[in-house]
Amino acid sequence: MRVNAYAAPAAGQPLALTTIERRDVGPNDVLIAIEYAGICHSDIHTVNGDWGPQPFPVVPGHEIVGIVTETGSAVTRHRVGDRVGVGCMVNSCGECANCLAGDEQYCVKGMVPTYAGTDRDGTTTQGGYSTHVVVDADYVLSVPESLDAAAAAPLLCAGITTYAPLRRWGAGPGKKVAVVGLGGLGHMAVKIAHALGAEVTVLSQSLKKREDGLRLGADHYHATSDPDTFEQLAGRFDLIVNTVSAAIDLNAYLGLLAVDGTLVNVGAPAEPLSLHVMSLIGGRRSFAGSLIGGIALTQEMLDFCAEHNIGAEVEVVPADKVNEAYERVLASDVRYRFVIDIKTLA
Ligand code: NAP
Ligand code: ZN
Repeated sequence: MRVNAYAAPAAGQPLALTTIERRDVGPNDVLIAIEYAGICHSDIHTVNGDWGPQPFPVVPGHEIVGIVTETGSAVTRHRVGDRVGVGCMVNSCGECANCLAGDEQYCVKGMVPTYAGTDRDGTTTQGGYSTHVVVDADYVLSVPESLDAAAAAPLLCAGITTYAPLRRWGAGPGKKVAVVGLGGLGHMAVKIAHALGAEVTVLSQSLKKREDGLRLGADHYHATSDPDTFEQLAGRFDLIVNTVSAAIDLNAYLGLLAVDGTLVNVGAPAEPLSLHVMSLIGGRRSFAGSLIGGIALTQEMLDFCAEHNIGAEVEVVPADKVNEAYERVLASDVRYRFVIDIKTLA
């Protein structure tokens, strides 16, 4: 079927209305009428060419919530009328050790990203800034009814990307967790770490969003533009989750870790970061990365968020405001996730 979509025609070009083809519903596929699609900074990195050449035109969007309108003959997991979500991946081999362990995002053959990837049929995947999408049912999540649809969309990327490292590195009671950058990922990290019972500190460029940070669940809030912050908090944290979309002074932040502490980078800047190994050696510290999360963990995260009444703080925008929203994200002027109302694309 041919559907309306917003696409970037070439690297760095503004997105514009177009149409794309969606495949026929196969035996294990579901057709989803999309209601909302979040705007992730990864969408902007991709269309701006920060991560290398892309198969333009690219329809971004990997924070998708919608309603199932058709299911293939073999689908048992989802039914017509269900509210469902799709995150950053739409396929993987399903057979390698990582897939079998529920880490499909680390599939040894490479997972298929929701957009700008090559699907199993050889076609280029196109994301959620469109009215419909056809996805293998195994990569489609159930969105709990108690969650608001627009506020749930960002959970499919920002939610799982922060939930996964917080769980893996044991954020919980008695743990001091810092979140660097209060944007889309950062505000989800604050809410989730707080719900997990950790003591949460926001490290933001300024104190402009301090009130918001405390309201979202942070116990402390510091400006990284103030050099005193790095002296005052030296050796403090068990875990630091860095969500910043640009290069930061890694060594300064590693100095904030306690002995055996870990700094996990989820932010994926275009530029390399520089690491002095003494920053690790001096406190038996670790520096790690983390990519989204597996399908089972994503469902666990959605259920956790429903249980704790956690959604994203969203600013819902019509599709024709996507380019303005991108500018505002790049200026760190987002509180705290733009979500496209896909009705405006119909
Ligand atoms: P975002 O909403 O733009 O948030 C990033 C935040 O970083 C900003 O709000 C800002 O927070 C801070 N920041 C931005 N530029 C900065 C700079 N030059 N110096 C210091 N701080 C700066 O972006 P997002 O959607 O949360 O995504 C964040 C990053 O995570 C992106 O690189 C994205 O591609 C990546 N990502 C990775 C994964 C993964 O699986 N690992 C998944 C999704 C996204 P303050 O104003 O509070 O300082
Ligand atoms: Zn994302």
